[in-house]
Amino acid sequence: MKPGSILYSVSVRTSRLLLRFLMAVGYFRFPRTVRLESTDICNANCKTCTRELMTRSMGTMDMELFKKLTDECATYGVRSLHLHNFGEPLIDKSIFEKIAYATSKGIETRFFSNLSLLTEEKAEKLVKSGISRIKVSVDGNSAETFEKIRSGLKFDVVMNNIELLLKTRKKLGSRSPEVGLIYVETPENEHETKDFINKWQGRVDSIDISSYHNWAGGLGTEGVASDKRRFPCLRVWQTFTVLWNGEVSLCCMDYDGKVTLGNVRDNTIKEIFSGEKMRRIREVHLTGDFKKIPLCSNCFARR
Ligand code: SF4
Repeated sequence: MKPGSILYSVSVRTSRLLLRFLMAVGYFRFPRTVRLESTDICNANCKTCTRELMTRSMGTMDMELFKKLTDECATYGVRSLHLHNFGEPLIDKSIFEKIAYATSKGIETRFFSNLSLLTEEKAEKLVKSGISRIKVSVDGNSAETFEKIRSGLKFDVVMNNIELLLKTRKKLGSRSPEVGLIYVETPENEHETKDFINKWQGRVDSIDISSYHNWAGGLGTEGVASDKRRFPCLRVWQTFTVLWNGEVSLCCMDYDGKVTLGNVRDNTIKEIFSGEKMRRIREVHLTGDFKKIPLCSNCFARR
């Protein structure tokens, strides 16, 4: 469907009407996907990430806040918590406790990791913790390419740690966690994509080759996606992103917490999710007036 075609315009209008209807009947009571940033500290400085641009403070979510949020998610039937946002979850010393707490409440957990900090002990703890899914970011199939893109990490260490995680899962006779690999394809690594897939296919549970995006304008290309006729982004109806300090950001693209919707230390997830700020943001998406939110206006990653 081509933007600008009649079919495209009709589809955009229909999706807006459908969303308005679903809102009117109270369908969006609570976010489907809740992301709790365990930490925004990272040991890498990847080219595909906006970490260098981040000005917000660094830290780790405390257990008290994590428990409060997890309890609320359990009350509303959230099935899965994402324990990453910006930062490396294995830096968070309480990550195993967090996973265990969520599991005890019947909620699955998952995170993205660069896996460079895995040890035998941590691999065992992870498998025993009950975490359901770990996705490892690997953007190259050779040390040269990998280390150029994923600055600060060592290719051999990460490769060995993927093997270690798979081996530990097998040794403990566990089916979890699912282990997936993510490869963000860029002009620097596209020549290695095929070999990468051939190397890992059948050995891990999933391989995602994703395209490079601009982190809502953070990595350049500003103003290019502000077409009034574009589809509303479902993230503002379905997802909820809490930064390590309790601030709620617009979505997982809002790397610096530029659009703050509230703080879950003062309000509940439900209050913020159904609050006035969220209502206004959804209205922007329903009218196509994206220029009112520069992040959305510049974003290629909407869905
Ligand atoms: S359009 Fe982009 S920045 Fe806006 S809510 Fe969607 S993903 Fe986030």
